Amino acid sequence: MQRPAIIHKTAADLRVAPNLADYADTCRSFSWEAAREALSGLPGGALNIAHEAVVRHAGGPLREHLAFRFLGQRIVRDVSYGELAALTARFANALQSLGVARGERVFVLTGRIPELYVAVLGSLRMGCAVSPLFSAFGPEPIATRLNLGQGAVLVTSGLLYQRKVAKIREQLPTLRHVLLVGEDGQPTDVPGTHDLGKLMAAAADDFATVATRPDELALLHFTSGTTGAPKGAMHVHGAVTTHWATGRYALDLHPHDVFWCTADPGWVTGTSYGIIAPLLHGVTSIVDEGDFDAERWYRILQEQGVTVWYTAPTAIRMLMKAGAELARRFAFPQLRFIASVGEPLNPEAVWWGKEVLGLPIHDNWWQTETGGIMIANLPALDIKPGSMGKPLPGVEAAIVRQGADGLVEVVHEPDVEGELALMRGWPSMLHGYLNNEERYRKCFSGVWYLTGDLARRDADGYFWFVGRSDDVIKSAGHLIGPFEVESALMEHPAVAEAGVIGKPDAMVGEIVKAFVSLKKGFEPGDALRMELLGHARKKLGAAVAPKEIDFVATLPRTRSGKIMRRLLKARELGLPEGDTSTLEAGA
Ligand code: ATP
Ligand code: MG
Repeated sequence: MQRPAIIHKTAADLRVAPNLADYADTCRSFSWEAAREALSGLPGGALNIAHEAVVRHAGGPLREHLAFRFLGQRIVRDVSYGELAALTARFANALQSLGVARGERVFVLTGRIPELYVAVLGSLRMGCAVSPLFSAFGPEPIATRLNLGQGAVLVTSGLLYQRKVAKIREQLPTLRHVLLVGEDGQPTDVPGTHDLGKLMAAAADDFATVATRPDELALLHFTSGTTGAPKGAMHVHGAVTTHWATGRYALDLHPHDVFWCTADPGWVTGTSYGIIAPLLHGVTSIVDEGDFDAERWYRILQEQGVTVWYTAPTAIRMLMKAGAELARRFAFPQLRFIASVGEPLNPEAVWWGKEVLGLPIHDNWWQTETGGIMIANLPALDIKPGSMGKPLPGVEAAIVRQGADGLVEVVHEPDVEGELALMRGWPSMLHGYLNNEERYRKCFSGVWYLTGDLARRDADGYFWFVGRSDDVIKSAGHLIGPFEVESALMEHPAVAEAGVIGKPDAMVGEIVKAFVSLKKGFEPGDALRMELLGHARKKLGAAVAPKEIDFVATLPRTRSGKIMRRLLKARELGLPEGDTSTLEAGA
């Protein structure tokens, strides 16, 4: 179907006056210093994420307001801002009672239960750096990350400890304390561990939040491992200014919103936007403790009255795969804003949102390293489906290429592909990679932070993702971004998902090969393969269209939901799979 290249926003799309109504004007008047003034801060120029997110609200009108609603398998647990302040105080006091000091590192390995959120915010209150890990990690990825981050404390459950950590405890020389949460009646009396519930019950429910410096380490986040071994990015308390500004402008959080970020805190999105940003804005967050399930997700949107929803392309594609009829059994009158991050959002998905959910989906771009949203389809801007949108106020983005003097230079002409770069200095920029100073230095060239992603900027200032520099396919002198090919394939009604790689070829360097999973009701076979090859050739031209298509049931993806093209390629070529610690089970 031929659709217009732009979705003009109407008042009906927006429902409320957006926080960012005039892009140019807000960008002109914005400064990070002024944004920081919106936060309360602590005496002496100190800044602590947990103070901004929780403590300062607890003495005010938000005291009884719901901070989180946890949807567990069997029970729903509500936690107000006042309760969260008391719980995080108890956690911080519990750490102190064990002799844990400011600056030490706390790791958390649990499902999305209240204790995870309390541990993250309580550690920050204590001035400890904290790192939530995916609870599905096996012993080896846990050990690698704990050792890289020099974890002194691990918060986990009895079962996870017994299954995964006890046997590697010897290999974790920095780990002094294991705190067990009593989740679902799991054991908390395991030798060599502490019962977190008991420690917290014995602790006081007030705590003087540590006056951390803005440049003091707060969060350790491991990258998704899409392109290689995950890197440990270090973030500081000063990042909270970015969390605040992006929650306000990119997610359009208003005080009475019910916000659902579907990401797990083991991925940076689940911390920056699953914990911190919504609390800064005093909204109520929904946390679903379960895994993806199309029907349950629609029910959550409906029953919880979600107003702002932040999810990922992979989830949207799975909802699309489940069919529009399922969506139409539910109604979402409260829902007013949907955003997506993690991978390029195919134009087809943006349109699906508009046609099936009644709202277009707003793609936005950022990385573990950037700590917060950098480029977004902002609420009041028209959407060009397939584009990542425009830089947030306070963010300067550019397309750069290698200059003659070794430094990069900015490409000013529109529509030219090059590396996406950000002017350094936004508050949540990474402060280093754990144990990898060399890799960190390589992120910068002069005033620019280099993202490793290829993109182009159009004449209206919208950025378009082309591909990761590692994934770009070189075929017969053409540079082909897999996203363009995948999006064209997805326009075919049979295609649910597509992953595209370059396959070495003696004649042309690489040929484009696609792996495709089908929607319900479609059967793989030669006829469909020919039809898809023809469809792609018509859309893309013979030089860019895939030459080969394989049908697959699912694509390998990371726990943060990204298609792992390097794995498709390694499997295709019979090469070693490399680091698969973040690979989603069964992929
Ligand atoms: P690794 O660095 O370990 O290979 P990763 O880059 O996937 O993993 P993340 O930091 O979670 O780890 O992901 C950031 C990357 O995800 C970006 O650099 C970009 O390639 C991709 N990405 C995120 N959002 C978007 C988007 N809206 N459009 C296109 N790509 C996106
Ligand atoms: Mg990366």
